[in-house]
Amino acid sequence: MSDQLWQALDEVIANVVAPQAQLVDQQGTFPSKSMEALGEAGVLGATVPKADGGLGFGLAEGAVITELLSQACGSTAMVTMMHFAAVPVLAAHGPRDVLSQIAAGRHLSTLAFSEAGSRSHFWSPVSTASAAADGQVALNARKSWVTSAGDADSYVWSSKPLAADGPMTLWLVPAATAGVRVAGPFDGLGLRGNGSRPVHAENARVPRTAMLGADGAGLDVAMQLTLPWFLVLNAAFSVGLAEAAVREAISHLTSARLEHLGQTLADQPLVRRDIGMMRLRTDAARAMLTDTVTALDAGREDAGLRVLEVKAVAAETAIEVTDLAMKACGGAAFRKDLGVERRFRDARAARVMAPTTDHLTEFVARLSCGMPMLDGA
Ligand SMILES: Cc1cc2nc3c(=O)[nH]c(=O)nc-3n(C[C@H](O)[C@H](O)[C@H](O)COP(=O)(O)OP(=O)(O)OC[C@H]3O[C@@H](n4cnc5c(N)ncnc54)[C@H](O)[C@@H]3O)c2cc1C
Repeated sequence: MSDQLWQALDEVIANVVAPQAQLVDQQGTFPSKSMEALGEAGVLGATVPKADGGLGFGLAEGAVITELLSQACGSTAMVTMMHFAAVPVLAAHGPRDVLSQIAAGRHLSTLAFSEAGSRSHFWSPVSTASAAADGQVALNARKSWVTSAGDADSYVWSSKPLAADGPMTLWLVPAATAGVRVAGPFDGLGLRGNGSRPVHAENARVPRTAMLGADGAGLDVAMQLTLPWFLVLNAAFSVGLAEAAVREAISHLTSARLEHLGQTLADQPLVRRDIGMMRLRTDAARAMLTDTVTALDAGREDAGLRVLEVKAVAAETAIEVTDLAMKACGGAAFRKDLGVERRFRDARAARVMAPTTDHLTEFVARLSCGMPMLDGA
């Protein structure tokens, strides 16, 4: 079955995702056809546990899927990886019927953590959950960025606790819940099709059973189940963009000719240096990604640190590599037809997706100094 999945993924990428990528970027439209095809091919259900009808894929396979998608279309890769980041929480604490729907490729989920109030500090939601007179829970929130907003079937949603102490509680919020609405457009520099729009909740009612994990334990749940997937797959997304930029740059640089010299651009030593640097940086980030997955699988002592490092390393690598590709390919890259400028724009998102590169650098520094990762923790 898993062999069939890899073949089906290759076909969906070649026949649907890659041909749609430029249009998705130009028009800023959600990659609906690609997501539908990925659902039908079993990709969206691949990380669901076998007991719930999925393939039980882990982080290693999730990272490969994300990288392959990212090489073709950054927006499709981001939508898929946010869905993968939501699945582990749902598998541990969500209703079985939702898991079965995900396994069947008929349910897309995502994370609704970032808020207008606490911005990139997703560990401190200011949105609320309160007991309503009808016995349900009323959610009120201004979520600032939610990938797939309006196109996902559900949101894994953070709020302040209902009654317990603690920083956060998680909820499964169906997208169609009355009182939950997409509150604006997404017209981004890059990842223009990922639909990362604001979502507001005004007295949106969910049953108490929509709680994912214990009241007040949402941050621990997110740290254990969501964060490793988010950080590792986000890194795979960045490595995929860097890889695509290197490939597209080399294709141009080895074919564009300086006719008066009878040489290609790649025959110029300084241009070759850029190619070499792009290759070095991309391979180093991929090596770190592989090492992080290995460390997690083996339960290595440094696994936690690697997980925090890998998104920052890969995000900054993709920014550096796509910038080099823009320089090396010159005016040709400035035009859209080469594809490099799309990678350049898409690559800049990972740096500011929380935890941002700055947050991760701070976390790594604090842990390296024997301090708690979060202030006050
Ligand atoms: C394409 C895209 C998709 C997204 N998808 C989702 C999603 O699906 N779900 C979701 O929940 N969120 C999502 N986000 C939101 C994202 O995770 C961040 O919350 C958001 O980008 C932060 O933007 P901001 O303007 O609020 O940042 P701010 O919090 O205003 O930060 C601005 C800058 O200050 C830095 N900074 C802030 N505080 C500190 C500090 N204490 N130490 C060091 N540096 C600091 C940050 O690193 C950042 O560089 C998405 C964002 C983008 C761009």
